[in-house]
Amino acid sequence: MWLRVLGAGAGGGFPQWNCSCPTCRAVRDGSRPCHPRTQSSIAVSADRDRWFLVNASPDIRAQIEAFDALHPRDDRVTPIAAVLLTDAELDHTLGLLLLREGRGVTVHATAPTFETLRTGTGFLTTLERYCPVERCEVVPGKDVPLGDGLSYRAFDVPTTKPSRFGPVDSDPGRVVGYRFTDERTGRFAVHLPGVQTFTDAIREEIDGAELLLVDGTCWHDDELRRLGLADKTAHDMGHISVADPGGSLEQLAGLRVGRAVYMHINNTNPMLIEDSPERRVVDEHGVEVALDGLEVEV
Ligand SMILES: [Zn+2]
Ligand SMILES: [Zn+2]
Repeated sequence: MWLRVLGAGAGGGFPQWNCSCPTCRAVRDGSRPCHPRTQSSIAVSADRDRWFLVNASPDIRAQIEAFDALHPRDDRVTPIAAVLLTDAELDHTLGLLLLREGRGVTVHATAPTFETLRTGTGFLTTLERYCPVERCEVVPGKDVPLGDGLSYRAFDVPTTKPSRFGPVDSDPGRVVGYRFTDERTGRFAVHLPGVQTFTDAIREEIDGAELLLVDGTCWHDDELRRLGLADKTAHDMGHISVADPGGSLEQLAGLRVGRAVYMHINNTNPMLIEDSPERRVVDEHGVEVALDGLEVEV
């Protein structure tokens, strides 16, 4: 199977429209080696013919145009078979509305995510006014065949991130990670763009993966505070830091993973600068930092 990073940035992308932090300035003025990134999404396929997107970012249109395997064939037939959602965050779901011209959209999501999309952001309700939407409920722990030997199993990712849309937001299944297995080889990959704590259950899901695409949102938990940009920590936003004690670099060191790749990288994260000391630390840990367009065959 193939996994392709369509967008490696966190919400807002890199650079973010209203941000002039040191990294956003550097990517705009070219003063340091770094590359822009669109907002977080991947595509997965068993045969490079039918593709499954995980998350529909606000940059979905540009992401489809940038990857010819996602271009339409024969009239308006799209190779995008379905969209799988990790949660109902705006940067992961706003792109659903941009698929409204389609003949129909198949969406896989947990019950709490569907509920937020219906009664919170209303994206699902709005999309249904434009095209048929087929809903497939994601149940953590259940294996779901996608055809051609590809299957997924979602797993719960507990979060204490405050809810914006009422109590249903705090249900289990509000955030999930996905484990994709190629049944023809038994090899699997894990997509985990938002994780607050590497619980034992999550570590178990990751262990043995050929590829892990993992949350690289903030370098430090208090990164936004340090830069004077916001009062929220990475933890408050549902993410673990990369480099603080107990952070993801430390967590990953104890796991058996073929290739570990950071994505969902916030525009403030200094590891985006390719000659930074922070990037060197990531390199030394044998972890990669995704660019848009990174493709891995598993
Ligand atoms: Zn996000
Ligand atoms: Zn910035």
